[in-house]
Order: sequence, then structure tokens, then C-alpha cells
Amino acid sequence: MGADNRAGDRQADLSETFPIVATESIEQERRRLRSGTLPEELLKPGRDAVLRSGDRCLTREDLRFEAGMVAGGLREAGIGAGDRVALYAASSLDWVIAYLGAQRAGACVVLMNPDYHAAEASHILSDSEPAAAIADRERAEIVKTLGVRVIPLEDLPRAAEPAMPSLTPESPAAILYTSGTTGRPKGALLDHGNFLAQGRGAIEVWRWTSHDILVHALPLFHLHGLGMGLHGTLLSGASATLVPFTPPAVVAELTRDDAERGSMFFGVPAMYQRLCDWLDEHPTDLSHVRVFVCGSAPLPPALFERCSRLLGQAPVERYGITEGGIVVTNPYDGPRQAGRVGFPFPGVEVELGELDEVLLKGGQVFKGYWRNPQATAEAFTPDGFFKTGDIGEIGEDGTLAIRGRLKELIITGGFNVYPREVELVLETHPAVQEVAVAGVPSDKWGEEVTAFVVPSQAAPLVESEIISFAHERLASYKCPKRVVVMDKLPRNAMGKVLRSQLK
Ligand code: AMP
Repeated sequence: MGADNRAGDRQADLSETFPIVATESIEQERRRLRSGTLPEELLKPGRDAVLRSGDRCLTREDLRFEAGMVAGGLREAGIGAGDRVALYAASSLDWVIAYLGAQRAGACVVLMNPDYHAAEASHILSDSEPAAAIADRERAEIVKTLGVRVIPLEDLPRAAEPAMPSLTPESPAAILYTSGTTGRPKGALLDHGNFLAQGRGAIEVWRWTSHDILVHALPLFHLHGLGMGLHGTLLSGASATLVPFTPPAVVAELTRDDAERGSMFFGVPAMYQRLCDWLDEHPTDLSHVRVFVCGSAPLPPALFERCSRLLGQAPVERYGITEGGIVVTNPYDGPRQAGRVGFPFPGVEVELGELDEVLLKGGQVFKGYWRNPQATAEAFTPDGFFKTGDIGEIGEDGTLAIRGRLKELIITGGFNVYPREVELVLETHPAVQEVAVAGVPSDKWGEEVTAFVVPSQAAPLVESEIISFAHERLASYKCPKRVVVMDKLPRNAMGKVLRSQLK
């Protein structure tokens, strides 16, 4: 594959931006990042991590002790290495203890979105066949009716700490179900090495140290909140404060006047949108915050500018996918570009394949879907790159930009339209606060380019004006035929627009 298709190639010296050890080959680097296992590395003694939530606070020693006892209890209940155990509960410190206990027991944790209804939970539990599901009170009934053994989160079994399980970096650590914005969720099986490479990579690129305090408002069942937020905190010996996401709660943690003041925040664009709306009304100096990281969905350039102004600094946009890891980021030290996701993490290769599909290789990249060899075979190129399904563009400076998803491609009158390209244009119209473009079935066009717009307060929204605005900037086949006004866009828990629902 030509150099033009490889992200990072044209960057003058990657080591100036990311601390890559110059003598390591990429394979050695991946081995280093993947080495060890989660229970050993997350609970390593001698680091001072503290996790807080409300009035409760757990030190590293508390976490080690609790996880050890829960692992003992799970072992007595017959659950250990080689078993799967589902975790179906709202985020809390008890969720963290249950998760670490299951990891300490050597089990593979099936992560579940607590918002799942019975039908969604049923798909995941029947697909993953866990030995038991740790569920909180609200969800235990659903698990019971599905015939799966329940372990109550509020009453976790505890017994003497067992010996460390014998695991390797290749042992299964967790199954994360894909967000299912298209089709049924598939179980991505991540091993211990995948998570360790993920957490260590995040520490290196964002210069995470034991002095940091992460304000953690992301769901714990997703790679963003778990692999980056929780694991990164424990691996770096930093601290984290878990808060349910609301702008005042996040700002309160970032502006405390004591030693527990947050220094980092990770969010998805929809969170930054709400944060900016709140900051507009309640201007607050946040320029002291060490870093704001944004990802899991595209950060519109207008929101990037708004964040830069209201947060007092540009957010660091990063890109990733459950199966491949969060593996591309704007530089911590260098310029952060709106609309671009930056350079690969250490040990990661990014290339463009057919139709400019983003391809990934690295220690973070999974080996396959749970019990789905066909989907696994389709997910990789013959030379072992994971096919993300995202469309990329690599710029002159070697940075990657995401142009949309292959599956969201609209075919209208025989022409291909990438919705994101149209959204990027419409987002610059003053009457548009948010927009999603999708192809609505049409007898005439096959699919009709349609813009679903949440109007801004700044200017009145006139449908014909939006359409002519697009015609001044895009080839006519790409322009929306219709504009539908919405109060808000349908999104999943990670803030991704559910285009199938729009149609
Ligand atoms: P998930 O597996 O739930 O993390 O979703 C991964 C998908 O989110 C990717 O395949 C992208 O389509 C999208 N995504 C994540 N980060 C970004 C980003 N910074 N810009 C654009 N899309 C993103």
C-alpha cells in the first residue's frame, strides 16, 4: 500500500509528539503495551489511585481487597477462569468492584448497557451464555425471567482472596457488544492484551500521570468509559470521580477548590454540546483543566470552535471503535485540528483500503467476534488489518479525518453521497444547531437525501434557504431534497445518531 494511504507517515518525527521508544520495532512495542493481565496490572500495589462517587471513596488498597474478596466469592459460587459473567447494572462504585472482582477471578465479563430492555438483554444473554449475571435490583427481574442465574450487585458473594488466576495477554477479558446502530449487536471479544495496550496507549498520548483526577461521566460498559476511563485511571495510578453526566455536576468537579479538583474530562460530542449550552449561561473559567478529550462520534467544527472558546482550550478529538480500540488522536502538544482525528497511537498502524475504508492494526485490535467466525472473517483484510467500516481521508500532514461510515452511504439516482460531507456543510448554516443526513427510500431516486435539522436559536430556519445554501456549496445530487425539523436527534447511549430511526 502506498505511503499516501498510511496515517502518520508524513509527520516529521512522530516521537516528538508521542513518546515512542526509538529502538523498538512496532512488534516489540505492541508486545510491551500488551504484556501482563488485567487483574495483575489494574490492582498492582503501590499506586495510589482513588475512586470517588458522591460521599464514597475507595483507595487502591480498598479496591484490591474488595476485588480479591469478590473473586473468592465468585470462585466459591463456581465461577472462575474460562467462565463468562455478565454485568448488568447502572454505573457505581459497586459496579467497579463487581467488574474488578470478576476480572480477579479470571472470568470474561460480558458488558451490558444498563438501559437495555428485556428484548435487548435477551439477545446478549442468549448469545454470550454467561454462567451468571451480576445485576442490580432494577435489572435482576429481567435476568431471572430470561432463565439466567442472578448474582445481586447489592449482595456480592465474598470469601477469602483466591490465588491469581493463570491468564495470559491472549486470555479473553470481556465481550463488548457493538452499538448496533446498524443491525443486531455483535459481541467483540477483547483479550487482556487489547485492554492493556488501550489503557497504556491512552496514558502515553495524553500524558496521564498519578497526579491526575479524571471527571468520569461516561458509561462504564463501553470501551470509552471502561478501557480508557477506568483502566487508564488504575494503570496510571491516577484518581477518578464518577459523576452522572450533567453540566453543573461536571463543572463543579472541575472547579473544586480542594485537592480533589478534576484535571481531565472525557466526553462524547453530545456531552460537549450540553456543556457549552450550560457554559453560555454560566461562564466559568476552565482553562486550568489539563485536558478535555472528545470522541465516539464526530465533533462538528462549529462545536470544536465553541468548546475552544467556552472551555478556554481546544478539546483533543480522538477516534476509535470497539473492535479496534481508541487508537487515533490529535496531539496533546501539537495543534488540535477541527474536523480531523489526528495521528495513530503508539504501536498502531492506520491505512486506507478499498473505498478509502479505515484499516487498523495494533495491540488494541480484537481477534474476532464471539461465536461468529463468518463476521470475524469478513472483518479483516488478508494481511490482518481490521476493517472499521469508516471512510477516512489522510491529509498532507499525515492526520486522519473521518468522512462517514460505508454503511451510511446514500445511493441517490445512481450517485454515492456520504452523509457526513453534507452534514459538515449544513452545520455551518447559522439556523442549524445540529443536523443528520440520511437517505429516505424514494420511488424516484432510490434514496432521497434528507436533512434532519435541530434549529438553532440564532436564526429562523427556512427549508428552501437550507437547500439553496447546500446548492451553493455542493454538487446538486448531494443536496437535500427535503429538510425535516426535529426537536432533537435520536441518539444511542454514546451519543451516536441512530440514522435507521430517522428513516
Ligand atoms: P463504538 O464501537 O461504539 O465506539 O463506535 C465506533 C464508531 O464511532 C466508529 O466506527 C466511528 O464511526 C465513530 N467514531 C468514533 N470516534 C469518532 C470521531 N472522532 N469522529 C467520527 N466518528 C467517530
